[in-house]
Amino acid sequence: MVPRKIAAGNWKMNGDLAALSQLDQMAGSIDGGCDVVICPPALLIHPMASKAAPGIHVGGQDCHAKTSGAHTGDLAAAQLHDAGATHVILGHSERRADHAETDADVSAKAIAAHQAELITIICVGETEDQRDSGDTLQVISGQLAGSVPDCATAANTVIAYEPVWAIGTGRTPTDDQIAEVHARLRADLSDRFDDGAQMSLLYGGSVKPANATQIFALPHVNGALVGGASLKAADFTPIIQALSKA
Ligand code: PEP
Repeated sequence: MVPRKIAAGNWKMNGDLAALSQLDQMAGSIDGGCDVVICPPALLIHPMASKAAPGIHVGGQDCHAKTSGAHTGDLAAAQLHDAGATHVILGHSERRADHAETDADVSAKAIAAHQAELITIICVGETEDQRDSGDTLQVISGQLAGSVPDCATAANTVIAYEPVWAIGTGRTPTDDQIAEVHARLRADLSDRFDDGAQMSLLYGGSVKPANATQIFALPHVNGALVGGASLKAADFTPIIQALSKA
């Protein structure tokens, strides 16, 4: 079995009810050649899932590691599932930076998400300083080992490589840099998990219609986690189509 191809959109803290109209146009471009997931702000999960745009899965952007309790402002994985989410992004670099999330936190959240039957999209990525210091592969392997729990399988876990310096900047690594990290991710996952060769590996960081085809042609790149270019159908649709054809 080859890894599933996945185009995932991370809307971050953008979008409102009116933005759901973008889904109709996106849905028109889906031909089954890849999975499509949109992760909107939590308030939009239920209305988005209820729209039932054909072929579009809906995901959260974070969940709590506990199942319920006194955690003001947080959401349990089962609540995301109840609202219609099938996926959840975990360990995004903005969560790691803004909320001091550690690898252990991400792993605990992933266990909770799997118990709630959510597919986790677990993010790893080096800072610019770490890349400049030559530490990229060591950082990536460490984050992967610490953030992905033992209960991960190809069915419940997707890994997104997102260099922190490439997110929202318009800068992307070279093809060789992306391929090098994805090869390391594949090797680490294959060493640790029986079905590690089947886990989907996404690249994320300034993916646009103009660079999607080139990125999707790289070895061990099974799709993308897309921020800014996932907000508008005019941008996300060509990315979905490029992945479908890859
Ligand atoms: C992201 O935040 O996950 C991301 C990849 O953002 P962008 O595509 O805007 O760089």
